[in-house]
Amino acid sequence: MIIVMKNKADEKAVEKVLEWIEAAGYKAHVSKGVERTIIGAIGDERGKVFLKAVETWPGVEKVMPILQPYKLASRETKQGDTVITVGDVEIGGPKCVVIAGPCAVESSEQLMEAASVVKKGGASMLRGGAFKPRTSPYSFQGLGEEGLKILAKAREKTGLPVVTEVMRASDIELIEGYADVLQVGARNVQNFALLKAVGQAKKPVLLKRGMMTTLEELLMSAEYILASGNANVILCERGIRTFETAMRNTLDISAVPVLKDKTHLPVIVDPSHAIGKWKFVLPLAKAAVAVGADGLMIEVHPDPQHALSDGPQSLKPERFYDLMREIESIAKIVRKGYAEAHGAH
Ligand code: PEP
Ligand code: MN
Repeated sequence: MIIVMKNKADEKAVEKVLEWIEAAGYKAHVSKGVERTIIGAIGDERGKVFLKAVETWPGVEKVMPILQPYKLASRETKQGDTVITVGDVEIGGPKCVVIAGPCAVESSEQLMEAASVVKKGGASMLRGGAFKPRTSPYSFQGLGEEGLKILAKAREKTGLPVVTEVMRASDIELIEGYADVLQVGARNVQNFALLKAVGQAKKPVLLKRGMMTTLEELLMSAEYILASGNANVILCERGIRTFETAMRNTLDISAVPVLKDKTHLPVIVDPSHAIGKWKFVLPLAKAAVAVGADGLMIEVHPDPQHALSDGPQSLKPERFYDLMREIESIAKIVRKGYAEAHGAH
């Protein structure tokens, strides 16, 4: 932490700051310039008394942190990339991993059909919500445990690991009994009690960016999970809310390289919830792979016209096959470079 004193700060003000810094467990380093004094508080500021309040003290101009506020999620702490293993699937490695399936599990027939499409298309994991976060309380809320059972059955049949959303801490034990990855949705990205609870779970967590969370806030949310003991966090960019109304959300494609620069955690992209319209899912998926996403989450439905949620953005089987074919060639180029730059995993 750097503390910049005011121009006319007297010795007494400097002394008082130095005393406080040392009492808080930092080492002080004083640099006296012609104009003003700058004090370095040396030591990891995360987890210690935060010195920001010192900014209100007499003679103090500004207090600036040096380290990122997130520690475990940061590349300052871990240089190499985190690779998360789910069954035979590696997320964050050379392969661009596709997680696909319907928005919600609606019935056994619907999910089994979706699962076989997803498998045939070459996806690595199956998605499907059993507990759905819906804007309206009158919309389909998901099948609950029945949906989880159907997901487990689909995993048995296809061998695909299953990703599903958890909305409250009290459901974690139940969901962990069926699912391979716990999804925390955009609306719960700053539900800190839920983040701490999934941090104690044994299964990896797929953490979606909220529609109005900054990347730093997203990383702080990941930090909650990591600090609670779960090292397996996958970040997901799914579009943010902007002034633009032509699409459901605005896919922040720049989030991918910026997050990859700041964190060692894998970063995937969900173009379906970002754009909200099936016909734009493919170009955004291609962009996401090109920009270095470690994976994609794609909504696929055997009959989007009769879907109980998110039909307009869901791909029909044929369109999903097209997408898988089209991203393959991009992934080949991008991920090859990635593997060379990061070393084989
Ligand atoms: C979902 O993936 O099912 C979902 C609800 O997405 P989001 O939380 O990104 O809106
Ligand atoms: Mn959806």
